[in-house]
Amino acid sequence: MGTFLFDKIIFGPVKSRRLGVSLGINLLPGRKKVCNFNCIYCECGWSQSIDSEGGYLPQRSEVYEALASRLQEMKVKDQKPDVITFAGNGEPTLHPDFRGIIDDSIILRNKFFPDAKIAVLSNSTNISNPAVKDALLKVDMNILKLDSAFDLTVKIHNQPRVNVRVDELIENLKKFDGKLIIQTLFLRGISNGKQIDNTTPEEINAWLAALEKIKPEEVMIYTFSRDTPDGSLLKKVPVEELRQIALKVERLGIRTQVSG
Ligand code: SF4
Repeated sequence: MGTFLFDKIIFGPVKSRRLGVSLGINLLPGRKKVCNFNCIYCECGWSQSIDSEGGYLPQRSEVYEALASRLQEMKVKDQKPDVITFAGNGEPTLHPDFRGIIDDSIILRNKFFPDAKIAVLSNSTNISNPAVKDALLKVDMNILKLDSAFDLTVKIHNQPRVNVRVDELIENLKKFDGKLIIQTLFLRGISNGKQIDNTTPEEINAWLAALEKIKPEEVMIYTFSRDTPDGSLLKKVPVEELRQIALKVERLGIRTQVSG
């Protein structure tokens, strides 16, 4: 069972596989995961209701103070982050003040480390919300999840707790006009007694067709790296296979990043 949870609003900086030196921002409760997906590979463990005990979300002013103070400290120590990343214990766009917090973080980034990028790691479920979309369009790395082009696979891999239809999701991803990065986690194994694999030719072909429509600036291709809540029956996809998948994406004229 994965229990990799953050207990503070600001964490790190950490050396991220995909982002470099990353200062993290957790807009969800400390030590509790809140997400409208419940991915079988989530390193934070299984999702909990925001209403259950300990579901306090940090206020916008608290996030501002915590980020300002940490960036000031890093400035004094000459510790430059490559990226300021909204990630943490679940889905950051669920925070009701997400847009305002993004505006604040851009102001603070410009003040302390103007060369650092701002990244959001999101599961894509809230991108039809105008305030969320508006905020995502302001950040440097708008990293949105698409693990499969098939509804059934998304249902098994991501276990959405909201209604998700992949055709609608693809239409909404297209509306970013290329100002987005797609993140796709590949895995195989057994989940709930069923064989699963989002690297089959059928899966890859449908996913490539979706990427052709979405036209992202980049695709992050990776597999899980920490314990998963679903236990040991899930298997990582070897990095060489991930590279083969990346080659197919690059043939579409889309750059890739692979991390195994
Ligand atoms: S979307 Fe992210 S935070 Fe939510 S369950 Fe999936 S991996 Fe975990």
